[in-house]
Amino acid sequence: MDPSASSPDPSFPGVVGHRRVTAMLSRAITRDRLHHGLVFSGPRGVGKAALARGLACALTCDVAPAVGCGQCDSCRRILGDRHTDLRWLLGQGKSRSITAASAREAALRTQHAPFEARAHVIVIDPADRMQPAAAAALLKSIEEPSPGVHWVLLATNLHNILDTIISRCMTIPLEPLGEADTKTVVSRAVAARGLEVDDGRRDLAISLAAGSPGLALELLADPSLEPTRELLAATLRAVQLGPPAIFGGDRSPLWSAWKRAVLETAEPGEREETAEATAKAESEVVVVKAGGRARKPKKVRAKKSKASAPKETPARQRATAGRLAELWLLHLRELLLGRTGLQNMPELEDHSGATVATHLQAIQDFQTALARNPNVRLSLEQLLLRLGPKPG
Ligand SMILES: [Zn+2]
Repeated sequence: MDPSASSPDPSFPGVVGHRRVTAMLSRAITRDRLHHGLVFSGPRGVGKAALARGLACALTCDVAPAVGCGQCDSCRRILGDRHTDLRWLLGQGKSRSITAASAREAALRTQHAPFEARAHVIVIDPADRMQPAAAAALLKSIEEPSPGVHWVLLATNLHNILDTIISRCMTIPLEPLGEADTKTVVSRAVAARGLEVDDGRRDLAISLAAGSPGLALELLADPSLEPTRELLAATLRAVQLGPPAIFGGDRSPLWSAWKRAVLETAEPGEREETAEATAKAESEVVVVKAGGRARKPKKVRAKKSKASAPKETPARQRATAGRLAELWLLHLRELLLGRTGLQNMPELEDHSGATVATHLQAIQDFQTALARNPNVRLSLEQLLLRLGPKPG
């Protein structure tokens, strides 16, 4: 009996969660009916690359066929991206786009694959950043691959992939992970990188990431998280105090907290780099896990901007306001669930369900306004006035 038959929900090496998907893929491998073109679609950081590696293990492992043992030489090399039958076609540059030249080269190579195992997996990441000419170059290879060759396309946005590609593949949507699974991935990554993270900050990042461990890790490394949490505390106090606190000027507690948070927030362009670093770090996690090497703990250090002095640009303001709104919503949801909310927040004088619901609505309106209104500070002032003490 093969291992996939003895366990109802096999999990691939290095994969946390996504049990239904791994079970389905495992069954397909056992029956020799795995589609040769797969699209893993799902939110950023949800574990698409890890699933691709796990699938490659399942396809090539002799110890635990159709599942992958995670321990044999083949599995370990796959998990460490050191196997000739797992190839990555990665986006390049800031835009992470996949060029026609690299696509053609990849297609050519698959003609002679597999090289040493019985299957060859080629992963396109991110498949939704393929230039049209790149997609065209891959069309035929994806439609009629050599025996044993499997294409795996990773995408956050299916709409950005040509229909002609999608129609030749089987699309598998990946759901956000549950909180426990997210915590498992984050804790492993934090341990593997030898980082020291306090529990409150870790839990906050996990809650904000809504089932995407990659995003949670990104948030943990984000120097603006703590200043934005302090900004939320200052904002809640300003709501209670009303206009004098809201219009207290740049040196008031509210607006000086605002300024600190804005200056620690990355420009949208800088964020892309962070995302790439996270993606890379995720693969390192697996390597370290497979190798079993431990590193000395080091403190999480905020990545300092390379540019001279950061400025309070509209893009930064908008990003800060967006993050503030997310944190605020999270805080209110925790209160609605009867929990204490985020740490170190001032007590709400009135935390009846009706008041919390009013606040939720106002913040959602604020999020909508942010997309339209170029004056971020003005939108924030209006929000605080709306929620503050009513005159008379
Ligand atoms: Zn193995």
